[in-house]
Amino acid sequence: MWGPQTRESNFALNFFWAWWWPLILIGFPFVGRLWCAVCPFMIYGEVAQFVSLKLWPRQLKGWPREWAERWGGWILYGGFGLILLWEELWSLENSAYLSGWLLIIITAGAVVCSVLFERRFWCRYLCPIGGMNGLFAKLSMIELRAQQGICSATCNTYHCYKGGPAEGEGQATMGCPVYSHPAQLTDNRDCVLCMTCLKACPHKSVALNLRPPGIELWTDHQTRSYEVALLLLLLGAVFLHRLSPLTTWVLGNDAWLKSFGGHAIAATIALFLPGAIALLVDRLRKQFQGTGPQRNFLELAYGYLPLVLFASLAHFLLLGLSEAGHILPVFQTTLGLPAVASSLTAHPAVISFLQGTALVFGALLSVMLTQKIGRQSWLKLAPQHGVTVGFTFLLWQLIV
Ligand code: SF4
Ligand code: SF4
Ligand code: SF4
Repeated sequence: MWGPQTRESNFALNFFWAWWWPLILIGFPFVGRLWCAVCPFMIYGEVAQFVSLKLWPRQLKGWPREWAERWGGWILYGGFGLILLWEELWSLENSAYLSGWLLIIITAGAVVCSVLFERRFWCRYLCPIGGMNGLFAKLSMIELRAQQGICSATCNTYHCYKGGPAEGEGQATMGCPVYSHPAQLTDNRDCVLCMTCLKACPHKSVALNLRPPGIELWTDHQTRSYEVALLLLLLGAVFLHRLSPLTTWVLGNDAWLKSFGGHAIAATIALFLPGAIALLVDRLRKQFQGTGPQRNFLELAYGYLPLVLFASLAHFLLLGLSEAGHILPVFQTTLGLPAVASSLTAHPAVISFLQGTALVFGALLSVMLTQKIGRQSWLKLAPQHGVTVGFTFLLWQLIV
């Protein structure tokens, strides 16, 4: 925060924007929400909880579950929307102290919630990054689950969930930090892959399984309106990240972005319009439904998830492949040393090729996933496929 402020001269900015973002997006299909198992924000939260209980022994508050289930996702959505606008309007990716404040605010949320409530309330309901992680973790090819047969036949302690002392092969733990029971998990969003239950279980019931990526989305998935809103917000975020070319494409120039007011209006439109278009086209889709089982917007909107993931990746690939390899000289510059270390940059044609591949791959997966979720003819789902193709075409113009 007190070092050089721009990305070319501050290695922390380089690390956050050019390394962390591309890597975490690439990681979701492979390891899901694994970041949440090693996340430094929550390490501060857990340390604060531990220290505060030592200094001031007390019973931490239970979770206001009903309230959190109802409103937590919307608070998270609002927080993420504000962060995206803040990022665009104040150019956070090129401002060290503002990026620092963003991380401090997220850490402060983790610390305050951990000092007030038991376990990791922030991670389960309120963390904006956690909301995104939970959403994309649905596309993961791994899942942590316990075998219900073993649990119901052999267990009466439920140490995985409640916590408790060591028992048989199980170790002493505090129980699942997000109050999930591994035998009742049906959605990767509810598991931060901390492996506490795996350590605690005395009956070897918990396992990390390979699975078809995204399987919960077309099996027993529970839809949530705030989750779909977040998904569409993340779709809008890709357009927001390309606001200047988008404005030029629509208006012929980006003069609008020179004033703060014009910039704020354009940013808000870019962020929310894609979601509004998806919603409006869904009204059109209803005309194609005819007889037979109907699908609602909330169910089908999850079909956009691969496109959102891979379009976000296409955006961050530019930063990753052109700037991540500069981290050593940038590190030297941050320390005030001459930047003599070597650096690596991908050829622009390679970056464009990979961005294009990511977009097309994301679109294909979205069409396939929509078919899987919808279980209807191609014609009935044609409007949503049309939106997927249209967004992909537009993103191609803006990104590749
Ligand atoms: S939910 Fe947020 S604070 Fe919690 S582990 Fe994940 S990223 Fe970190
Ligand atoms: S996962 Fe292990 S500790 Fe948890 S209920 Fe099943 S058998 Fe018991
Ligand atoms: S304890 Fe088990 S179910 Fe709970 S978050 Fe950790 S890995 Fe997931």
